[in-house]
Amino acid sequence: MPRPRTYKTRAIVLAHFDLGEADRIITLLTPEDGKIRAVAKGVRRPRSRIGGSVEPFAELDLVLARGRNLDVITQVSVAHAWLRLRDRLDSTATAWYLGELSDRAVEERGGAHPVYGLLRRACQLLDDGMAPGRVARWFESGLADSLGVRPELDRCVECERVLEEGDRFRWVPAFGGVLCANHPPPPAESTRLSLDALKLIKAYRRFDVEAIAALRVPAQVEAEVELVMRDYTRFILEREARSLAFIDEVSHATDR
Ligand SMILES: [Zn+2]
Repeated sequence: MPRPRTYKTRAIVLAHFDLGEADRIITLLTPEDGKIRAVAKGVRRPRSRIGGSVEPFAELDLVLARGRNLDVITQVSVAHAWLRLRDRLDSTATAWYLGELSDRAVEERGGAHPVYGLLRRACQLLDDGMAPGRVARWFESGLADSLGVRPELDRCVECERVLEEGDRFRWVPAFGGVLCANHPPPPAESTRLSLDALKLIKAYRRFDVEAIAALRVPAQVEAEVELVMRDYTRFILEREARSLAFIDEVSHATDR
């Protein structure tokens, strides 16, 4: 039986770039087909029917027509607009970052992937007003998990000693977890970690997101975990996310 010429899918727009005079190429994350690149034709014309809706960080119901190279978006309706997410610069910047991580983590036509559910939930949480930093760390932790990466947080990766209160240790992405102070010198790509920061990293992995949203944590510990988790995510995906610079700019602007 020939494949039908058109198909429907739900999707979140991750990125887009302009093509020719009026078209755009859209990177979509879908629940069943992984990542898809598709063309939105005439979308930059003022009276385009689909123009305004094919923007990042909305969940869309799409009809696509199969093309020789890229599929073409023929119909769009918005399932979730997440408009409040866009009201705040810090949540918008975080959504871009999470979109970029999703783009890196999922392959084109790679089939169903848990990252869709993670990104969808993250957008919802940002839209509900959860602190963007917490959403980002929750997402990074879930992303590592969905890629089958489980860092060792309870025992030293070298001597398997269970870490205790008062221990000094370092976070070593390349070793897949924490290293105790019995193994000098410390590897170059490693960060000293406080016990509180380690506890928070474990909480991201073990608690549900409502419990994480309610945690009270000193800003300094959050900052420590931010560094470590970003670092770890870069290590897993083998690249620094470009949108991190945007997040940092936004947070410096709000600090002032
Ligand atoms: Zn050790």
